[in-house]
Amino acid sequence: MNNHVTVLEIDGKALEHNLNYIKNKLQSDTKILAVVKAFGYGSDGVQVATFLQGKVDYFAVAYTHEGIALRQAGIETPILVLHPQIQNFDLLVKNRLEPSIYNFKTLTSFLECADRNLLMNYPIHLKFNTGLNRLGLWHNDIPIILSRIRESKHVKIQSIFSHLAASEDMNERDFTVKQINDFVAIVKQIYQHLDHEPMIHILNTSGVVNYPQAQFDMVRVGIGLYGFGNDQKETSQLKNTHVLKSIISQIHMIEPGETVGYNRAFVANRYAKIATIPVGHADGISRKLGSGKGYVTIQGKKAPIAGNVCMDMIMVDITEIDCKEGDLVYIFQSQEDILHIANASETISYEILTAISQRVSRILIS
Ligand SMILES: *Cc1c(COP(=O)(O)O)cnc(C)c1O
Repeated sequence: MNNHVTVLEIDGKALEHNLNYIKNKLQSDTKILAVVKAFGYGSDGVQVATFLQGKVDYFAVAYTHEGIALRQAGIETPILVLHPQIQNFDLLVKNRLEPSIYNFKTLTSFLECADRNLLMNYPIHLKFNTGLNRLGLWHNDIPIILSRIRESKHVKIQSIFSHLAASEDMNERDFTVKQINDFVAIVKQIYQHLDHEPMIHILNTSGVVNYPQAQFDMVRVGIGLYGFGNDQKETSQLKNTHVLKSIISQIHMIEPGETVGYNRAFVANRYAKIATIPVGHADGISRKLGSGKGYVTIQGKKAPIAGNVCMDMIMVDITEIDCKEGDLVYIFQSQEDILHIANASETISYEILTAISQRVSRILIS
């Protein structure tokens, strides 16, 4: 049981709005895969998938155990595991999870697993490297890959996919277009070896925005569902899904010259009112937000963080705010708040969302 007073609220209506906004950019027959890896981008993968079930065609997670959690929660939608580990293949098939096959080792191990488990036409997804150089099969190996797959009755290629390296960056347009063209050439070559045409997909969220011509059969959207596009214009069309809130635990009135927190990093230069909030770096609040770089919102007003972020708490300056112990505190409630935190901690929205630790309780409000 988790009764931490610091709660991450997931806004189901906002999720649905974002899904529909993205759907409106797609051709009517383009399928949608919702990426719910890393606990649904730091929210709650099970609650998000349960909410989106029936509204999307596929889910993707990074690791096998993330997919098992969805199956155990009763999710029946097909689930692609982007980075399955070979030691988990038996568990993966037991849970009807579909592996991304990205090198010879995963191919060989999965063919053995499929044989061992007497599978028939089990769906697998071939991932090709087109320039990200992270995971992916090499196009020169297509003939040998396909001869090995065709020898087996146990598996069936469900889809062929790749991943863009810089879909959000229009300065890299030429590189991205080359990735897409190379992917199309790979698909054509594979189709020549097969008697069926597996689905193909390459776009993530910013790919959907910038390269609509490459939607193919399916798109894989993550961050867009959670409220962030690749620029301000897109983000403003999306709604914020993650709201992190807490309450004021205690208020201290301090005198000029007194200090607050570890290393006495905040020094009062006047009479000040300081509130302690039960959220700290162990909850995902970066220490980079200390000394006024970050703020929380109380009674609609911004309260800067006073001094260092502690493991379990922050202190904030509420001198100008009319509030009391027990009052509601928003650590963030809008995309603007999250982008401020991302900038101040020198990172991107993805990391702010996924950093919210499992100590914080979650609730999806639909
Ligand atoms: C995480 C991930 C996505 C989703 O990307 P967003 O930018 O969040 O939409 C899509 N495809 C792959 C392979 C991924 O790892």
